[in-house]
Amino acid sequence: MTCQKCKGLMIEEEQPELAPTAVIHRCINCGLVLDPLIQKNRLGSRRGKESFVHAA
Ligand SMILES: [Zn+2]
Repeated sequence: MTCQKCKGLMIEEEQPELAPTAVIHRCINCGLVLDPLIQKNRLGSRRGKESFVHAA
C-alpha cells in the first residue's frame, strides 16, 4: 500500500487500544495515518450533529 499524500510506503499497525481487531495504516515516510474506524466514527458524529441542528 502506498501513501496517498507522498506515495511513500505504508505499514499495517495493530491498535488494540482502539479495538481488539483494529488495524491502521501508517506511512513510514510522512507519518500519515489511515484509520477506517476513526473515519467512520467522525462521519457518524458529524451526521448526528447536523440532524440535531436541523431538528432545532
Ligand atoms: Zn506519506
